[in-house]
Amino acid sequence: MPPDESASATGAAANPAVLQQWLTAARETPKRCALFCDVDGTLAPVVPRAEQAMVPLEVSRLLGRLSAQLGVVACVSGRTAADAKRLVGVGGVVYAGAHGAELLNPATGEIERTPELEAWREPVQKFVSALDQTELRRNGVRLEDKDFIQALHWRGAEEPDLAEELIEEIRTAAVAEGFEIHRGRMVLEIRPPVEFDKGVAVTRMIRRYAVQHAAYVGDDMTDLDAFDALRALHREGTLASALCIGVSSEEQPDRLAASADVMVDGPRGVTELLKTI
Ligand SMILES: [Mg+2]
Repeated sequence: MPPDESASATGAAANPAVLQQWLTAARETPKRCALFCDVDGTLAPVVPRAEQAMVPLEVSRLLGRLSAQLGVVACVSGRTAADAKRLVGVGGVVYAGAHGAELLNPATGEIERTPELEAWREPVQKFVSALDQTELRRNGVRLEDKDFIQALHWRGAEEPDLAEELIEEIRTAAVAEGFEIHRGRMVLEIRPPVEFDKGVAVTRMIRRYAVQHAAYVGDDMTDLDAFDALRALHREGTLASALCIGVSSEEQPDRLAASADVMVDGPRGVTELLKTI
């Protein structure tokens, strides 16, 4: 077993110095610190259907406390900002939805959207409504309407191989139409061809809240964009420290443990970590 995999299994830190540096900053200069958390698979345990996901009350309370304590606490999700807020349910937290395409400001309750995206909402929605809905159902593929992103889920499909074949056909057709494609854990997203990802979202928040120490916690491929963004901001000197925390799971992407400074053991491990801040 390579060293990074053993680290994920035990929850041991691969780069514990970075973790200590961030925790010290969070204690000594809390308003200069940012905490960014992915939602599904990080705060909420992964469940067969996205709509059944729940963030434990204990976790919401911890985030509530931390949002009063730190410079900024944000949930960064593939869900819409409103849906992420519904799930986490804490007022003081910023919600970056649709992988950063939306930003829900807790102070105003307003959702900021990237303007170029608006023009793409209808074409993306038309593309998925033109798919053969009976064939999707037969293959255990479910649609999730995330506004200008449309997601196809096949977790729980009776025959995952057949579902994957259908998904591949849809992917090819979507690319031909000029859409962006993003793959996560048993999900394919069809998106507008406009640049936005979790890295763009965290960069915007770090600049806006003028924090110097940032930590990001995530479990999936899309979270690696945020890891990369934090490290880039650290290299350019905007951040004094950048901490990337990976959350282990059975479906863990290969690159996660290799990219993370620290691995924690599932959403339970995240809760334990939040308690130490
Ligand atoms: Mg996740």
